[in-house]
Amino acid sequence: MSSTDIVLVRNLLKVYKGGTRAVDGIDFAVQPGEFFGLLGPNGAGKTTTIKILSTLLKKTSGEVRVAGYDIDRDPLSVRKSIGFAMQSVGLDDLSTGRDFLMLQGLLYGLSAAEARSRVEELLDLVGLASVAKRKVGTYSGGMRRRIDLVAALIHRPPLLLLDEPTTGLDPQSRLAIWDYLAHLNEQGVTILLTTQMMEEADRLCRRIAIIDRGLIVAEGSPDALKADIGGDVIHVTVASKDEALTDGMLEKARSLVGSRSYVREATISGDGLTLKTADSSAAVPDLIRVLDENQISATSISVDSPTLDDVFLLHTGRSIRAEETSGGESDLAVRSMLGLGRRE
Ligand code: ADP
Repeated sequence: MSSTDIVLVRNLLKVYKGGTRAVDGIDFAVQPGEFFGLLGPNGAGKTTTIKILSTLLKKTSGEVRVAGYDIDRDPLSVRKSIGFAMQSVGLDDLSTGRDFLMLQGLLYGLSAAEARSRVEELLDLVGLASVAKRKVGTYSGGMRRRIDLVAALIHRPPLLLLDEPTTGLDPQSRLAIWDYLAHLNEQGVTILLTTQMMEEADRLCRRIAIIDRGLIVAEGSPDALKADIGGDVIHVTVASKDEALTDGMLEKARSLVGSRSYVREATISGDGLTLKTADSSAAVPDLIRVLDENQISATSISVDSPTLDDVFLLHTGRSIRAEETSGGESDLAVRSMLGLGRRE
């Protein structure tokens, strides 16, 4: 951890009234420009963590600095430095998309002229310019989520905190939001999101912390975490090109490929081999060539890569189930804390 961290969390503890240890002493840090994810199943402590970071919820103990500011000593500076979009979107259905964003801009202290140009820029960015005159109440779920994200960006915060940004969306809207978030990150916005979707974490985040029952059980890039599992598994079925050589062919194939540097383990299974390998992209063409040179054809090859679910399984003994959350509580309290007024 260094002084340049945009988010620094040390030994963070949150015990709710009634005794639930929602966050049980976690540490992590995020560098400016990173795309960082907190991945975990329902109830892991993700929302609690991100709400504490956004100053909306008091921690029990520990140290949290956001954009260089201590969240207890300087919460206003923290709030100015972040954009925060919650799971439950509480938009004002009766105002138009454009008016809603204008209001957000003015509430964040932009001048009318600044707000107008920022709103148009953001509407373009998320492809909502053509529906900006429509009432928000007529928007689809994906459009609502996009406009809420944009509202979080109106004051050009360097850090965007997102609580399960695509939960409950249809696949097409989800893809649109992913593209948009990747684009924002390329433009230099640091993003910290929570998710229970492995695919989301895998696809977007440069680094993830896997959280379970209030504890971080693993941290690293998705690729590195998956590589810890032990690499890809290749299944190859083989046939001899020369019938006279069919006897002992499988054993021969096993010994041929088993000695290749990228193969960690080679076992005979059925009419083929199962190989554990560190790098399947290099392995596949080489396997085919080595077998072919020895009069053996690879008749089918499949590669199974470890997933982040395998990583979760390794560290917790359980599998993440991508349960759709209901969205939960209203964000009215949140908006009033931020001084943003009601938008029921
Ligand atoms: P996640 O976002 O990963 O689903 P949460 O942070 O919402 O997890 O919840 C973590 C744990 O804290 C859960 O056991 C949840 O039931 C509990 N919890 C969340 N909010 C409250 C609350 N306001 N009061 C008491 N317990 C809570």
